[in-house]
Amino acid sequence: SVEYRNGAWGQGELLPYGDIAVPPGCKGLHFAEQIFEGMKAYRFEGKAPTLFRPRDNWARFVRSAERMCMVTVPEHLFMDGIEAVTGACAPHIPTASGQALYLRPFAFGLDPSYTIKASDNLRFMVIGSPVEAYATAPMRVMIERHDVRAARGGVGVAKTGGNYAASLRSSTLAIAGGYHVSLWLDPETRGNIEELSGMNVFAVIDGVLHTPELNDSILPGITRDSLIRLARHRGYKLVERVMNMEALLGDIRDGRCSEVFACGTAAIVNPIALFGEADGRTVPLPSATPVASELRQALLDIQEGRGSDPFGWIVEVPPL
Ligand code: PMP
Repeated sequence: SVEYRNGAWGQGELLPYGDIAVPPGCKGLHFAEQIFEGMKAYRFEGKAPTLFRPRDNWARFVRSAERMCMVTVPEHLFMDGIEAVTGACAPHIPTASGQALYLRPFAFGLDPSYTIKASDNLRFMVIGSPVEAYATAPMRVMIERHDVRAARGGVGVAKTGGNYAASLRSSTLAIAGGYHVSLWLDPETRGNIEELSGMNVFAVIDGVLHTPELNDSILPGITRDSLIRLARHRGYKLVERVMNMEALLGDIRDGRCSEVFACGTAAIVNPIALFGEADGRTVPLPSATPVASELRQALLDIQEGRGSDPFGWIVEVPPL
């Protein structure tokens, strides 16, 4: 935990997990003046813990801060925080495949004022928490036809609490309706696929990988970028384009689309079993998911240090 006050960063402290005191009127609580990241540290027997593309998380954190008009956290402070928490938690990092230490860096505005203006003071913290392998069961995905997660010119491209606030109602209704997660459509036409509430989306159509091209209401996932590079490296043809939802449902119905899967730091790569509507109508996908399985394994082999690391994505954490 470290604070930015009177124009300067203080000294970072390593704290046991527990409640923290903040001013009840602070803008982090009232105006969602908040940004965060999600990343993982992996550990193998006898080896130092490793991080996956941590500087890309830092770079996205900086872009989120800029969109939110917040003071940016310098790279060395971000990395010091990540490395200190990873080092302190190292003995508790599970070593089984798919398990890891989840790291949650976040920053929020501390100024206790109701003036709508960015805070001068903020706190940057990192939480570490061991995580099990995320459920690998194929997901039931509800197409969200009513709410939008992010607006054109809004904060959708930033990793900030407001986007998740906009997702809460849909996610809650989706789970109550027997789905795992909502799929978001674009805010203008409500016809094109954007992403899931915490994952980006890929489809295999006629043997070619397709993923929605980025715009200012899609979060640019680091797993998405890794899969694009990994898939091309493995010889797949991959297109980034506007992807219409009805066209994809048509491709699934007539068998041209053989797989749809989602990806993110938490989920890694997870196949989608079906798309459904709020009223319960569904369009199922084939149960065989060879492309998703291949890419999931290839990514995990790099993240967990089994395979080679052709892109230089792995960073060793120095001992405390
Ligand atoms: N979209 C959203 C809205 C997310 O919250 C996440 C998780 N960070 C992703 C996509 C996937 O991003 P990443 O691969 O960097 O975890």
